Parts: sequence; C-alpha cells; structure tokens
Amino acid sequence: MLALAAVPALGQKAGEPVPRPKLVVGIVVDQMRYDYLYRYWSKFGNDGFKRLLGQGFSFENTHYNYVPTYTGPGHACIYTGATPSANGIIGNNWWVREEGKGTYVTEDKTVQPVGGTSLVAGQQSPRHLLSTTIGDELRLATNFQSKVIGLSMKDRGSILPAGNGANAAYWYDGTNGAFITSTFYMKQLPDWVSKFNARGLPAQYLSKPWETLLPLADYTESSPDNVPWENGFPGEVTPTFPHNLPVLSAAPVAAVKSLEKAAGETQPKTTPQNLDLIRSTPFGNSLTADFAIETLHAEQMGQRPGITDLLAVSFSCTDYVGHQFGANAVETEDTYLRLDRDIARLLAELDKTVGPGQALVFLTADHGAAHAVGFLQEHHLPGGGVGIGIMRDSVQRVLTHRHGPGAWVLDFENLQVYLNRPLLAQKHLDLAATQAEVAAILRTLPGVAQARTATDLQASHWTEGPGMFQENGFFAPRSGDVLTVLLPGWLEAYSYPVIKGTTHGVSWQYDTHVPLLFWGWHVKHGESVVPARVVDIAATLARFLHIQEPSGCSGVPLGEVLR
Ligand SMILES: [Zn+2]
Repeated sequence: MLALAAVPALGQKAGEPVPRPKLVVGIVVDQMRYDYLYRYWSKFGNDGFKRLLGQGFSFENTHYNYVPTYTGPGHACIYTGATPSANGIIGNNWWVREEGKGTYVTEDKTVQPVGGTSLVAGQQSPRHLLSTTIGDELRLATNFQSKVIGLSMKDRGSILPAGNGANAAYWYDGTNGAFITSTFYMKQLPDWVSKFNARGLPAQYLSKPWETLLPLADYTESSPDNVPWENGFPGEVTPTFPHNLPVLSAAPVAAVKSLEKAAGETQPKTTPQNLDLIRSTPFGNSLTADFAIETLHAEQMGQRPGITDLLAVSFSCTDYVGHQFGANAVETEDTYLRLDRDIARLLAELDKTVGPGQALVFLTADHGAAHAVGFLQEHHLPGGGVGIGIMRDSVQRVLTHRHGPGAWVLDFENLQVYLNRPLLAQKHLDLAATQAEVAAILRTLPGVAQARTATDLQASHWTEGPGMFQENGFFAPRSGDVLTVLLPGWLEAYSYPVIKGTTHGVSWQYDTHVPLLFWGWHVKHGESVVPARVVDIAATLARFLHIQEPSGCSGVPLGEVLR
C-alpha cells in the first residue's frame, strides 16, 4: 500500500514527477541514549515519541562505528553518512599542526556574524566538513530548487547537518538571545528571523522557575533530586527543583563574559540578563521547536508544488542538561518529558502545513552518554574518571626525563596526544618510535584500556573492536599521534579530581547506541533488530528520495523500512 509501491510506475507516464515526500525533517536529540525511549515510556504522551514509534519504524539496534562520539562528528555523520575518516569531522575541537593552534569544528575566521555581534558565536561555517550532506545531494538532484535549512541551539548542531550547500543554518547566540547565522550564508537575517528574535522568547522562558512537569514523587525512573554527583546551576546552593531561573539568569554570568573576552570584544552587553542559561534547561528545546515551526511557515518548507525541501532540527538542551546532571537525574527525565511535548507540537504542525503523511521524518541522536561516575560507584558498578591534565602531564614528564626539556605535548584532545613533531625532528627522534613510547606511558595510567599509535592504526585494517572505531574516526591531517581507549564506564573528568555530571565520546555501548525512528511518507510500520549503523541513515534517505548518496557516504540503505 505505502512504501515504494509507487516505484514500478516510475517512468511509465511522461511528465510524471519522481515520487518524493514534500519535506524531509531530521530530528537529532543531542545525547539521547537508546534506552531513554523506553525508560520514560510510561510517562510520554501519545503524540510525541509514542506517535513516531506507534506509526513509524524503529531500528532498535543502531550504533555509531567510530570515535570520538561527540556532537560535531555525530551531526556530520548522520547527514553525510560518512565517518570522520571521510568527512574530516574528527572532534568538536582538534589541533591544527600547520597553524600551531587548536580549532573548533565550525570555526571560520573568514566569515562574520549575522544577527549578532559576538565573534565567538558568529564566526562559524561548515568549511571543515569535507563530504556533501544528504541536503546537498537533494539540492544537486533538483538543480537547487530544494530548500535546505538547519537550525539548533548549537552552531555545530545546525551547520554540519545542513552542509556546505545549504540555503541557511541558524543557531542560538546567548549574548543577545537571538538565532543568528553568518556571512557564509547571507548578508543579513531574513525579516521573519529578525521578527522572531524581537519577540524575546528566551527572556520569557527564563522568567519562571523550572519546576517539574509532574509531581516530583512521580519521577520513579530517576535518582533522588539531591545527589552529590550533580552540578547545580552557578549560584545554586543545591542542584534541586525548583531551579529559580529568574534569579539564576539575573546577572551576566562568567560563561557569557568569557565568550566576549575570548573574542576580544569590549562593547557593553545590551542585556543585563544571562540568556545563555536557557541552554541548560528544557526551555531551549521549546524555543528550538518554536523556531522550527516558524521556519516551516516563513520558508514554506514542503509547501511549494513538486519540490522537496529538507529541514534539519537538532534539540541541544538534552545534552547540556545531561552533562550537568547525569543520565539518571530528575532534570534529565523532566527534559525528555517536555521534549516529548515539543516534538508532538512539531509533528502536529507538519500535519497542518505539509499534510498528514506528506513529510518524511527521522529521529536519532548524535551520541549517547555514560552514567555519572558517582551514581555508578554508589551502586557498585564499574567506572571512574580520568583527569586529562594528569594524562598529559604524565606523558610530558616522562618524555622530558628521557629526552630533555621541551613542550613535547602540544595538545591532548579527543583522548589523543598531539606530539610536538618539529621538536622531535630537532632532537632527531623517530616519530613512530616516540609514538610507541607515548602509547606505553599511557597504558600504565588508571582507566586506560588501550593506547594505539597513529602509525600502527594506519598500517592495519581493523574490522571490529576499539581499533575499528579509531580507524573510522581517524583523519591523518587532523588526528593525533597516539589514541587512547578508556575502560567501560570511565570518562574524561574535566574538573578532576572533582567528578560531577557526565560525558560521552568513547566506543562503548552507552555512547554508540542511539534511537533511530522513521515516520511519515512511505514509511512502513514496524521495528527491526538488524544491526544498523548511523552511516546508513543518509543512504536510506537517498533511497527514499531516489538521489545520490552524499559523496563520502559509507552506509547502505536500511531496506526494511522501505518494505
Ligand atoms: Zn552532542
């Protein structure tokens, strides 16, 4: 009935358009573990996650196949169907050897902010992304008639999904509480975006305390509200409900100030309120849904006859909240229950604007998350925290002892050591031999399961295990010299020895296993446990649309959803 029953008719009638959905909507839920779908199941409403599952198709066994499982690489992988080895997005940050400094995944000093004045927030583009996206391919296939727009609270959550050929990407600037873009895309914001920003929704959302949606006692899926491994908001005595957002956002906070300082900006702030705080609340997701719905209307997405558009939406606040409070927190549960309502709102709007069954929707995540270390330890479960500074210092100390003084380690990023190659050359040290030395040092440290040199990694082909994840995540011009694997449950503790909140980034199940739901146009109803990979998403979309896969795509179409 549905599915590609229409396909045999292809080419039978002259002038018939290729059957395609009117709109493709990608929904990425930042840091959504697979198990959240079912952990919160009994508390979800009928019109959000349950609607997608109840009518759509779920790939229950979908994993990432590279490390690091971070936001930039995840969003790039979903939309390019490529691993970092082919799309170049090896982390959120990496060391640029030829420049002798680090870079950020969407940083681009050749462009200027549009819609704001913060250079840190606005000098962003997809230039580091080296593969086309499914949106790029859709535009190529329709001779650029299709419109492709990405939006998110995070720059990397909107820019990378949309791709180099996108019409626009919008992200949130916490210094002025606005959705902004950069001159990579346009010279000035469209009127409708300026009008949306002028409504001042962030300030409104922050004008009320964050209370739990349900009575606190109902959050039986989560740890007690007050546990020592949660990070409260700056200025909060305990990390507990209600979170008094009007008070907590009243003063400009260090985060916003440091943003400006980093950019070398001296102009006074226009707002006395810390509008960046909304990122770490569920209301940033509501704001994202508001903006997505506005985009549907203003840009007539999926409403122009015979043209397929693509809207890439990423809900970032699940990630900020998850990092701050952990995977088992009431705050995290509450954020998902509220997101469920925001997704329901978005789906209802698709029915209204594009028409029931006319949009093809998929939902997935850019990575999962580990449980908080304190939570694991309280329940006698394995896990721990490693201090990146300690790892870096250990390598630096031993190399200094053996080979003399010098800045041996230039950077320790993505669990990878970047060695000072010019210094090695100067001291006539062999690169491969020094890499092996460093790997041996790292293997002696607590929490380290394996360490592999870049030379060894490139000399072999790894078909499974941590080596495979590292090989798929390795791109020689940007990757480090030695790559570390932590033990399961172990994570980078940014403020070691204090280990609070949680993170993600490794190749163990909790970081790689994510939801994958398809819903809407020609989607069969059902579920599958066949091993699916995130790189298969773009290939599957290409099959739905009868277009080329993105240029670096290594995935294959997931045939079951197509019937
Ligand atoms: Zn993320």
